[in-house]
Amino acid sequence: MATKLDNFIGGQYVQVAADCQQWIPVTTPHTGEVIAQCPVSTPADVDAAVKAAHDAFPAWSQRTFKDRAQILLRYHHLIANKYRDELAHLIVKEHGKTFAEALGDLAKGNETVEYACAMPELASGRIQEVSRGVTCHDTRVPLGVVVSIVPFNFPFMCPNWTLPIVLATGNTMVLKPSEKVPLTMTRVAAILKEAGVPDGVFNIVLGTAPVVNALIDHPLVKAVTFVGTTHVAEMVHRRATGRGIRCLALGGAKNHLVAAPDVDVEMAAHDIVNSFTGCSGQRCMAASVLLIVGDNQKLVDAIVAKAKVLTQKEIGPVIDDASVKRITGYIDESEKGGAKLLLDGRPWTSRLQPGHFVGPTVILHTNASDRALHDEVFGPVLSILHVPTLDAAIAIENANPYGNAAAIYTQSGFTAEYATKRFSAGMIGVNIGVPVPREPFSFGGWNRSKFGDADITADGGMEFFTKRKKVTTKWSVPSERSWLN
Ligand code: NAD
Repeated sequence: MATKLDNFIGGQYVQVAADCQQWIPVTTPHTGEVIAQCPVSTPADVDAAVKAAHDAFPAWSQRTFKDRAQILLRYHHLIANKYRDELAHLIVKEHGKTFAEALGDLAKGNETVEYACAMPELASGRIQEVSRGVTCHDTRVPLGVVVSIVPFNFPFMCPNWTLPIVLATGNTMVLKPSEKVPLTMTRVAAILKEAGVPDGVFNIVLGTAPVVNALIDHPLVKAVTFVGTTHVAEMVHRRATGRGIRCLALGGAKNHLVAAPDVDVEMAAHDIVNSFTGCSGQRCMAASVLLIVGDNQKLVDAIVAKAKVLTQKEIGPVIDDASVKRITGYIDESEKGGAKLLLDGRPWTSRLQPGHFVGPTVILHTNASDRALHDEVFGPVLSILHVPTLDAAIAIENANPYGNAAAIYTQSGFTAEYATKRFSAGMIGVNIGVPVPREPFSFGGWNRSKFGDADITADGGMEFFTKRKKVTTKWSVPSERSWLN
């Protein structure tokens, strides 16, 4: 019997309430073997976690930024050194990433911790004499209990987009990890405690939709962040803002890459293959559609040549059987509709070996209405469409409802600027297929890839997780009088 997972509440691992009705098997995507059982926590568990965070808030919020940053510095060190390999192996096991990708997941998450460690510098308020003898200053005040709901595709990084900034700014937190990858952050809870995070400041409650809804509805919760599919992001945003609390909900994506006629074929092919096959295509920033301006057979051939030599060890599995079915469904449908499979990843799904594998797939579409060109496939699949002009490519990109990332491949600064100004997405690449803005730049898309105004990391997170208090002060009657004094 696989281990039954506990919640982490008030600084302790705590068994889910005895009346828990549902346990979800956690599988390793490499073989499909069940490695743990994740509870769908009860309303009493949710209440206990939120109350623990609420009780810890007064003392935590009154500590200085410096004090909190020092704890996060220790956390950063523990993740980067003492527990790096242990956590990377856990990510490989529960998620299916390669070891190198798991290290990347940890390193990228830890970059947000680095940013949060600079909070004593970043969060200092402004002060100015705004009228003779009158000064204004502002300070950042934490909100209280913050809830973060995260997806499966980055077991460490996505929770750590919010966790360090939430804590550094003096809030307390309840995290709801993905039920598909609950092991990594369950382990991290004890590491945060070792780093010095006081009991109750960070809590985990495991489960699925009912737990998410109970967290959003809890009267002591002051803000919610969500990362996941667009459909759920929109529901979560509506539910949270409907009860008047802050919500930032990041959704899915359909990222377009555009190859201009002057593209550097070798560099672009390498980058595009990396973008659509990395993490098995399970990245919200992954290339999904390649729009080639004109007829560039050399680029198509180079992409296929590079993708077809990749092995299962280099790409890894996708998360589960449902994903295999969804991804191969799009491939089947494209083929039936007349698209040409330049590289077919379906043979990797052969039941000759266990696990949830789909090989790299390159589809050449001739029908612009094929669903694989419009829906989020979330697997190692690249859809190629030839277009006559750059403007035609930009029009296709603009018409898709998402807006996470877009990229232009060109050697011309003019073409790059022309496209970057016109793409309708929050994160743009020039000759880069995974244009993730690294700190101090903030992460966040546009359109139906994000519901809510702020970005989730860097100064976007700092703004979202705090409210500003503005103080206007006068100590003497100035000689020059104005409406302010
Ligand atoms: P998901 O929407 O299925 O699940 C995300 C979280 O929501 C999980 O914790 C899950 O338990 C919970 N959830 C699922 N259904 C729910 C419901 N009906 N009500 C309330 N909560 C629910 O997403 P996923 O499959 O885990 O992750 C993949 C998706 O996340 C992709 O669409 C990907 O593009 C997106 N993603 C987006 C970003 C971004 O920055 N925009 C980053 C990473 C992943």
